[in-house]
Amino acid sequence: MAFMDDLKKFGKNISQKTSDMVEITKLNSAISQEKEKIRKIYYEIGTAVYEQFKAGNNLGMEEKCSQIAEHEQKIEELQEKILEIKNTGKCPSCGTEVSEDTAFCPQCGAKLN
Ligand SMILES: [Zn+2]
Repeated sequence: MAFMDDLKKFGKNISQKTSDMVEITKLNSAISQEKEKIRKIYYEIGTAVYEQFKAGNNLGMEEKCSQIAEHEQKIEELQEKILEIKNTGKCPSCGTEVSEDTAFCPQCGAKLN
């Protein structure tokens, strides 16, 4: 009988542990959701501070804001390179330089990609 009692207790412990694990998983998931909400707010704070920086108001984050400005400058340079590449596209039919956005060559009327 003692064996059966032990077995019941053992089974109970397992199901208890399983429900504990489920509960912990749920709680960890809830923590992750809260952390994600904080990250979004951090992003909003950062954006607001940077907007102030661009408007000439120093909120004590000049260095970080300058770094963002540098990265934005870099993005502009990269976008300009893409435009350059696009603008040097050539018509496969007549070789006229055409914009990548153009559907038909303005010179010979050939269909472009
Ligand atoms: Zn052409």
